[in-house]
Amino acid sequence: MKRANVKSSFQPALPGSVIGVLGSGQLGRMFAIAARRMGYRVHTFSPETDTPTGQVADVEIKAPYDDLNAVRGFASAVDVVTFEFENVPAGAAEAAAERAPVRPSGSVLHTTQNRLREKTFLRDHGFPVTPFVAVNSLEDLRAGLIAFGYPSVLKTAGFGYDGKGQTKITGEDQAEAALAAAGKQETILESWVDFACELSVLGARGVDGSFAHWGVIQNEHHNHILDVSIAPANLPPEITRQAVVITQAVLEQLDVVGVLCVEFFLTASGELLINELAPRPHNSGHLTFDACVTSQFEQQLRAVCGLPLGSTELLRPAAMANLLGDLWKNGEPNWLAACAFPNVKLHLYGKLMPKPGRKMGHLTAMAGSADEAAALVRAAREAL
Ligand code: AMP
Repeated sequence: MKRANVKSSFQPALPGSVIGVLGSGQLGRMFAIAARRMGYRVHTFSPETDTPTGQVADVEIKAPYDDLNAVRGFASAVDVVTFEFENVPAGAAEAAAERAPVRPSGSVLHTTQNRLREKTFLRDHGFPVTPFVAVNSLEDLRAGLIAFGYPSVLKTAGFGYDGKGQTKITGEDQAEAALAAAGKQETILESWVDFACELSVLGARGVDGSFAHWGVIQNEHHNHILDVSIAPANLPPEITRQAVVITQAVLEQLDVVGVLCVEFFLTASGELLINELAPRPHNSGHLTFDACVTSQFEQQLRAVCGLPLGSTELLRPAAMANLLGDLWKNGEPNWLAACAFPNVKLHLYGKLMPKPGRKMGHLTAMAGSADEAAALVRAAREAL
C-alpha cells in the first residue's frame, strides 16, 4: 500500500473540525449532510448564494473563484479544504493550500479538469483509454478523422460535462463546422466507441494509502446525461476485477486522497476503456447514500479528514434515477405519488429554477435484484 504524499506531522481532522468545500452544488450538499451527521462543520465557497450546499452548510461564502484573497480567507477558517466541482481554477486550489491542507491536491484537479491532460496522463501510465488526438487546427482534425474514421467525436478539452462542448462527426463535410462550434477552445478528437455498456467504479483512498471501492455500477445515459445507475452491475467477475484493479491504480498514480470516479466503456469484445475521471463523488454513486454502509460522501469526508475508511458493503441491490428539470414542464411533479413507493427514497437538491437538463434531484430504489430496483425506480419516476 503506497502511503499518500502528506506531511509526516499529519493529524486527523476529528469531529468538530471545519471542512471547507470549494463549489456549492448537490455533491457538496450531500457531502455536507454526511459531514454534519458526524458532527463536523461545513463552509462552502462559490460565486452564488442560496446554493444546494449553502442551504445545509454552516457558512456560505459568495465570491468568484479567482478572488484569491477571498479563497485564502475561506481556507484560513477551516481545517481541511476539499472540492465538489473540478472546474475550480488551479490558482484557487493553490491559494487555499497556503492556509489549509487541500485534499485531493490541486495537482489532481489540474490533471483531471482538462480532457487532454487527463487522457495523456492515463495513456502515459499505461491505462486503457478511448483513442484520442489533440486538435489545434483543421489539418489536425482532418488527420484525426482519417485515422479514426466515422463517427468520431470532437470535444472541448476544458469545462466539459454532460455532453457539453461535444460534437459527433459523421462525415468529412462536418469537420469545419464542428471545429467552429468549439470556438477558440482547445479540443480533442476521440474515436467513437461502439460500447456494449457504460460502467463506473468509485474508489476512495485514505491518507494512509488504504483503498475502498463500491464494486462496479452500470450506467445508462440519455442525451449524454446520466439517466439511471444500477448496482451491482451484471458482469462477468473477471471484468469486475479488472475495473477495480484499474481504478485502484489510477488513484495511486494520481496520489488521490478522497473519492474518485472512473467512467468506463465496455466494448462488445469485453475490453474496458476509460472514458473519463471525476476527482470527487459522482452522480453514479448517489445510490451509495441509501444502499451502502458508507456512502461516497461519508467516505470522502473520512478520506480527507484522515479517518479510517468505512465499509462499502451494498446492503441491497439498488438503482438511481436522475430527476432533471424537464420533469417540471407541466408544473411541480407529483411528490406524493413517488413517496407512495415505500422502497424508494426521494432526494431533492433545493434548486429553485428547474431548467431542461438541470439535475434537480434523484430517486433511489432498493429491491431483491438490481433489475427489480431499476424497474421500481423507473416506475416511481413515471408516477411523478
Ligand atoms: P463525457 O462528457 O465525455 O462523459 O460524455 C458523455 C456521454 O457521451 C458518455 O457517457 C457517452 O454516453 C457519450 N460519449 C462520449 N464520448 C464518447 C465516445 N468516444 N464514444 C461513444 N460515446 C461517447
